[in-house]
Amino acid sequence: MIQPLTDGQGRRFEYLRLSLTDVCNFRCSYCLPDGYRRQEGLPANLTVGETGRLIAAFARLGLWKVRLTGGEPSLRPELLDIARTVAATPGIRTLAMTTNGYRLAERAQDYALAGITALNVSVDSLEPARFAAITGHDRLGEVLDGIAAARLAGIRSIKLNSVLMRGINDDELESFIAFVQRHDLALRFIEVMRTNDNPAFFERYHLAGAEIAAKLEALGWRPLPREAGAGPAVVYAQPGRPGQIGIIAPYAKDFCASCNRLRVSARGKLHLCLFGDHGIDLRVLLQSDDQQQDLIARIAALTLTKAPGHRLHQGDSGATPHLASIGG
Ligand code: SAM
Ligand code: SF4
Repeated sequence: MIQPLTDGQGRRFEYLRLSLTDVCNFRCSYCLPDGYRRQEGLPANLTVGETGRLIAAFARLGLWKVRLTGGEPSLRPELLDIARTVAATPGIRTLAMTTNGYRLAERAQDYALAGITALNVSVDSLEPARFAAITGHDRLGEVLDGIAAARLAGIRSIKLNSVLMRGINDDELESFIAFVQRHDLALRFIEVMRTNDNPAFFERYHLAGAEIAAKLEALGWRPLPREAGAGPAVVYAQPGRPGQIGIIAPYAKDFCASCNRLRVSARGKLHLCLFGDHGIDLRVLLQSDDQQQDLIARIAALTLTKAPGHRLHQGDSGATPHLASIGG
């Protein structure tokens, strides 16, 4: 019997963001500007078996969409085993992954065969030199080839993620529009979020998504109705034209009211909010199949305690040092 996962506000949770690693090979200026630094003494990432038990418990609570993220999930050697395990879990209907596009061109077919049906690929600029300056890697061409390979491999939903930065890439709106219309793709502009590590970057470069929304509306783009299990974006399209552009604006009023997602870190901690306090350990209940009822009860009880909203407007970004630590 499916018991729906809800919180004290009556919000229902059908979508889990599962981090596979906090390691990353890129150095995005808003996330890990100095690159990933290994911390000594941390526990190992969840094994494939632990991950399978975790997802089975969430699926028993009615959750049907899982997104693999990180850090960079493609760096996890067991990625394909994990993807196959999650995709084969009864009740899971959508398996998505967010990636910086590393080795996507050569691996897209394997991802599709392992059951990944949706990909979000981070592309913060369509200008090679700027892409290199933002990410620390001169790989725009490689990433765009990866997107083309993912389409050929039959991955149904492909979206570009682009972090909006005032004075860095906000002059590229027209190029992004031309790109999504030429390739009939969807793009998500994400407002820079303040984390514990990036307050000065945030103050300097944050640009409200509402500014981009106003420009889109002036160009004849119109908001679409929200789809079931959708992420937090308000999605726009130009009637009669291909392509979609979404805006993720966590600083907008009522952003948290439609929250439908939970997060689990690579080491098995449940994070009720991206900007919450430290995660709560689930790993202790992932050690055998006999623990499933206790695991389900713990997830359901913790979810009931989820706070109504983040405290970003009070300058409080919780315990998150950077989004690579719990998967954004
Ligand atoms: N490494 C993968 C990638 O970059 O796509 C997955 C992990 S990354 C943390 C997930 C998403 O969070 C990416 O689209 C990234 O651009 C976004 N992100 C990271 N830090 C951010 C920040 N401070 N504000 C807004 N978006 C951020
Ligand atoms: Fe790595 Fe993604 Fe963070 Fe960029 S945004 S540094 S690719 S985890």
